[in-house]
Amino acid sequence: MAQEGSDVDFELTEDQQLIRTAVAELSAKFDDQYWMEKDENHEFPTEFYDAFAQGGWLGITTPEEHGGQGFGITEASLLLEEVSASGAGMNGASSMHLTIFGMHPVIVHGSEEMKKENLPRVVNGELHVCFGVTEPGAGLDTTKITTFAKRDGSDYVVNGRKVWISKAQESEKILLLTRTAKFEDSPKKTDGLTLFFTDLDRDRVDIRPIRKMGRNAVTSNELFIDDLRIPEEHRVGEEGQGFKYILDGLNPERMLVASEALGLGRAALRRAVRYGNEREVFGRPIGMNQGLQFPLADSLARLDAAELVLRKATWLYDHGRPCAREANTAKYLCADAGFEAADRALQTHGGMGYSEEYHVARYFREARLLRIAPLSQEMVLNFLGEHVLGLPRSY
Ligand SMILES: Cc1cc2nc3c(=O)[nH]c(=O)nc-3n(C[C@H](O)[C@H](O)[C@H](O)COP(=O)(O)OP(=O)(O)OC[C@H]3O[C@@H](n4cnc5c(N)ncnc54)[C@H](O)[C@@H]3O)c2cc1C
Repeated sequence: MAQEGSDVDFELTEDQQLIRTAVAELSAKFDDQYWMEKDENHEFPTEFYDAFAQGGWLGITTPEEHGGQGFGITEASLLLEEVSASGAGMNGASSMHLTIFGMHPVIVHGSEEMKKENLPRVVNGELHVCFGVTEPGAGLDTTKITTFAKRDGSDYVVNGRKVWISKAQESEKILLLTRTAKFEDSPKKTDGLTLFFTDLDRDRVDIRPIRKMGRNAVTSNELFIDDLRIPEEHRVGEEGQGFKYILDGLNPERMLVASEALGLGRAALRRAVRYGNEREVFGRPIGMNQGLQFPLADSLARLDAAELVLRKATWLYDHGRPCAREANTAKYLCADAGFEAADRALQTHGGMGYSEEYHVARYFREARLLRIAPLSQEMVLNFLGEHVLGLPRSY
C-alpha cells in the first residue's frame, strides 16, 4: 500500500466507495425508458436534476462554506461516471456537469459577494448556469473570439455571438468569455479576454436551439448578444485575465468528461453482454461467437486501462501535482474506449441496435460527442505532441 502523499494510490477511500454506491442507487431511479423519453421529447430532466440537488450532490466540489461538500475532482469524477454508467449517459451528465465544476472560476476568482449570492443557489439546484466560450468564427482557437465587452461608466456593454452553448434555454445566468481588448491590440494573444458571471437577459440575448444528433434532453444553443449591459460587479476577477481563469479549469474538465465517456462505455457494454447472452441465432447465444465476444472483451480491457489513467489524473490533481499529461490522455483514451464500446454494443444488437428500443443507439450518438467536445481528440494529440513529446507546434 502506497504511503499517503507519496505514490499514486488507486484504492478508493470509504467515502469514495459510499459516493459510488449512493449515486448508483439514486441514478437507478431514472431508468433507460426515462432517458429515452427525455431525449425524444427534447425535455430537460428536471426530476432527475432536482433529486440530485436534494441529495446535495450538485455541490460535491463546492466549498463547505458556500453550501457544498468540498470534495475533490476524484469524487466528482466518480459521481459523473456513475450517473453516465446508469444509462443516463450524456443527457444526465450534461444536465449537471456545469453545476458540478463550471463554477470553478467563480469559486477561485469571484468576489465574496458573487460567491455568497450565487453558490448556495447553484448547489440547491435553483440556479441553472451555462458556459459561453465557443464562437462560430473562432472555433477551437479561443483567443480569436470577438464578442466584445465595451466599458460604459461602471458597466460593460456586450455585443457578439456564441454557438453551442449548452443549457442556455434553462439557464438564468451565464459564465461569459468576452474580449475587452481586440486581439490585434493585445501584446499577448491570451491578453484582453474578460470573464463575466451575469444574467442571461432574454431581452438582450436571443437564444436559438441547434438541432443536433443526440443528447437532446439538454439543449445546445446559438446566442445572439445585442447590447447586453453587465455591471462591473459581475466581472469575474480582473479585466483582461479571463483566459487564464478558464485555463485553470481545463484539466479538471477533461477528467470529468473522461469519466462521463467511461460510464457510457460501461453502460453500453452491460447492454451488449445482456443481449449477447439472451439472443439466440443458429441455435446458440450470439455471445458465444468470438466475432462478437472478442470485441466486447477488448472494450472491457480498453475501458479498464483508460480508467487507470483517469484515476491517476484525478489523484494528481487532488494532490496539487501537475496533471496535464494525464488529464489529456485520460480524456483521449476514455472518449475512444467509450465510443468503441458503444459502437460494438450496437453491432451486437444487430438490427435491433438501430432501433431506439434497446437504448444502444442513444448511447452511440452520445458517446460520439465526447470525441469532439469540449475538446477534440486532435487537440489532445496536439497538446501531447507539443508539450509532452517536445515536437514543434503544428498550427
Ligand atoms: C453538443 C455540444 C455541446 C457543447 N457545449 C458547449 C458549451 O456549453 N459551451 C461552449 O462554449 N461550447 C460548447 N460546445 C462547443 C465545443 O466545445 C466545440 O464544438 C469544440 O471545442 C470544437 O470546436 P469547433 O466545433 O469550433 O471545431 P473547429 O475549431 O471548427 O474544428 C473543426 C475540426 O478541426 C479540427 N482542428 C482544428 N484545428 C486543428 C489543429 N490545429 N490540428 C488538428 N485538428 C484541428 C478539430 O479537432 C475539429 O475536429 C459544445 C459542442 C457540442 C457539439
